[in-house]
Amino acid sequence: MEVRYERVRVSHALSKSGLPDLDYAFNPYAGCSHGCIYCYARAFTRYPGVAENWGRVVFIKENVVEVLEQEVKRVRRGVVGVSTITDPYQPVEVKEELTRRGLEVLLENGFRVSVQTKSPLVTRDIDLLASHRPLVDVGLTITTLDYSVARLIEPSAPPPNARVEALRKLASAGLETWVFLGPIIRGLNDSKDSIARVVEVAFETGSKLYYDYYHHRPELEASMGRLLGRYPQALSASPGWRERVRATVEKLCRETGVTCAPAFPAAERSRSIAEFLGR
Ligand code: SF4
Repeated sequence: MEVRYERVRVSHALSKSGLPDLDYAFNPYAGCSHGCIYCYARAFTRYPGVAENWGRVVFIKENVVEVLEQEVKRVRRGVVGVSTITDPYQPVEVKEELTRRGLEVLLENGFRVSVQTKSPLVTRDIDLLASHRPLVDVGLTITTLDYSVARLIEPSAPPPNARVEALRKLASAGLETWVFLGPIIRGLNDSKDSIARVVEVAFETGSKLYYDYYHHRPELEASMGRLLGRYPQALSASPGWRERVRATVEKLCRETGVTCAPAFPAAERSRSIAEFLGR
């Protein structure tokens, strides 16, 4: 997929996060070329053309690190989610290095960082992350280990096996790692076998596992349309289905000794997603 890049200057680098585990969000890019069809972030990105062309337009916040250098002197230290509405290691990061430089600023100033990505590019920064090990955790999103299912829902993201390999390298470097199994979509990646394969990766790498379900939103009507045509049950994530999935995930985790938890506990659901995303 062809991606159009725009450069923009910003006046803020950190935004407040609504999740209890994160104080701030650091999003060095707006938009994400991984183009996942279920991505909620499109609803919360105000840059022109990004939401309607999700995956094909990315804004590069070219001065975000310089702004961050000033902000860290002013704000209270805390935990920073890197990132919440973009993948910090999408391909443009190879050249731009905004994520790496942002991490340097944060870590050198005593901020804790929680990195989440789908890309093995994160392993480029193992040297930096490992030299601040107590301040770092890294999560890889693994929705499925089935390559064709991943292509369907995450068309331009690195394939699952590359994410698993990245997780292995991060864990081998002694970093705290976790797997995000989500979204679990009814009829697509909710089978016991599919979930068990992801749990196995968490076990093998000593990672925690967080899980979440697909929540349909009007903004996702267009991007999810084709998939919903083939998997109409994906829309009916009833409480009964969610309970069955929860029981399956938790049983598999218990059996393998993996620590797991819902990514967004019920109480947090009452918060708005906008608040969570740090907009
Ligand atoms: S990698 Fe994350 S931010 Fe990027 S499109 Fe996929 S879900 Fe959205």
